[in-house]
Amino acid sequence: MNLHINTPLIESRALSLITGSQVWLKLDALQPTGSFKIRGIGAACQEYARRGKRRFVSSSGGNAGIAVAYAGRCLSVPVTVVVPETTTERARALIAAENAQVIVHGKAWHEANTLALSLLGDDDAFLHPFDDPLLWQGHATLVDELVGQGVKPDAIVLSVGGGGLFAGVIEGLHRNNWGDIPIIAAETIGADSLAQSMQQGKRITLESITSIATSLGAQQVCEQAWTLSQTHPTHSAVVNDHAALNACEHFLDDHRILVEPACGASLALAYEQAAVLHGFGTIVFIVCGGVTAGIDQIRKWNAATMR
Ligand SMILES: *Cc1c(COP(=O)(O)O)cnc(C)c1O
Repeated sequence: MNLHINTPLIESRALSLITGSQVWLKLDALQPTGSFKIRGIGAACQEYARRGKRRFVSSSGGNAGIAVAYAGRCLSVPVTVVVPETTTERARALIAAENAQVIVHGKAWHEANTLALSLLGDDDAFLHPFDDPLLWQGHATLVDELVGQGVKPDAIVLSVGGGGLFAGVIEGLHRNNWGDIPIIAAETIGADSLAQSMQQGKRITLESITSIATSLGAQQVCEQAWTLSQTHPTHSAVVNDHAALNACEHFLDDHRILVEPACGASLALAYEQAAVLHGFGTIVFIVCGGVTAGIDQIRKWNAATMR
């Protein structure tokens, strides 16, 4: 039994008309936790439980933390999530609603993470939000499903934070003999750790995250994602926060599904008719979802970016 569900793949008439390509949407926003993260986190949690771990610990105040909490509840394994003070009330409430223990500690993520690591006993498993081969294996199921759904795209668009989704999708492409399909990797300005690494030809670390798309806010992509960007056909694309937020609002109108700006970064490439899409006949957009921002928050941010 998987903790994630097989998600629908639907054609987007709206985005097809805008881009001139045939656009398909892989709707991982419909996962029980509202994002693709449960694919990898769920698989990793199941594996750690099999190995005899009796508690799951996370330091993510975002969709990864919510997925760990959900997985723990499903598997009857207690979960502790340590989050920094900056984590929104909404995210804390979503984690607590899954019966996980929420500990608020530190001004920034690294302080929460340090405490989380210090709590780890022999029977505890630490769930990293993006840098774990078990996670990539789980994310790869997304491509297994695509193959079963019978649409072989000319390109796949996805958002990149720490690069776990990117690494998992490429693993899925290879295990299905689809290794020739290029990835279009979307980020926002201020969270563009992959784009800047690819530009400079080395894995860089951002000094700080300045984008509102906090789910993309890894200062550095994981080694695996960096390596794959050098070996797998990868096109990098960066949009600003305003474009990502607009994409969220338009996507809600067009498809009645609310996603975070982290996902809006991918969708913005279609709404903005980005040149990077040109020449690809059939494109799958991974609608990675995200539940940490409501529509009021998105509209408020968007009003602020227009000032
Ligand atoms: C985590 C997350 C991402 C980025 O995934 P990585 O594996 O860190 O690259 C993108 N969108 C949403 C909604 C997320 O939760």
